[in-house]
Amino acid sequence: MSIPATIWLSMWSAGEHPTDDDFAAVRTCEAVAGVEIWTEHPGAEWQIEAAARHGLQVGIHLPFHDLNPVSDDPVVAERALQRNREWLHCLARSGGVHAVMHGGYAASAADREAKLPRLVEFTSTLHAEANELGIELMLENLIPDKLGYTHIMASNLAEWAQLVGEIGCGAVLDTGHSAASGIALADVFATLGSTVRAIHLSDNDGARDLHLLPGDGNDVTADLAGILSGIGYDGVITYEISPLHYCLNDVLTHIASEASR
Ligand SMILES: [Zn+2]
Repeated sequence: MSIPATIWLSMWSAGEHPTDDDFAAVRTCEAVAGVEIWTEHPGAEWQIEAAARHGLQVGIHLPFHDLNPVSDDPVVAERALQRNREWLHCLARSGGVHAVMHGGYAASAADREAKLPRLVEFTSTLHAEANELGIELMLENLIPDKLGYTHIMASNLAEWAQLVGEIGCGAVLDTGHSAASGIALADVFATLGSTVRAIHLSDNDGARDLHLLPGDGNDVTADLAGILSGIGYDGVITYEISPLHYCLNDVLTHIASEASR
């Protein structure tokens, strides 16, 4: 993508068990400055250390499996806070720079309004602690599951903007999630503007979260470069590409070719 943005790669693109050679391959691709690690993946702590050791900037997806920040059960909610806090400290030890709140807020849609303040409180606490550690915390837009139970919050633009505004954190735009939720990229930037500090870049068919390389689906990011150039975007763009469809080398080749355009 020929726009003046810093390009990162989600290490998920190398599968759930990336090797030291995979990190070396990413480092060799000069177009990639950093990587995002999914803390749910086995060996995530080693991955964070490996990324830093290879001279890559590093960020994380905060964990949510078995953790629900908006739980009615105070023990579950406290455990969720503690695990997220531990990952922030783990990231800080390797000099990491950003952390993404990536959903998992489980609540029935009927309870949504009641649970939103709880999500604001939880994320505001983490945001303040992340700031102390020199880490930028950001909230990603999501696709609700078909039961209307998990990932329901921050799945429409008004709610996402409200949450980000009340928490005072940055936003992560996931282009696959916005396409599958029917949210136009132009509307995202018209509403959130420079609050969008990072982008998870992938393509899909407008319905499923396929995490394809740009252009391999409906080209849902076709107008992104123009929008970003227009606003002078200076955040991060993280290619978040599925290892089910590509190997790491395919993804790195694509990124290098886009960077040289
Ligand atoms: Zn994402």
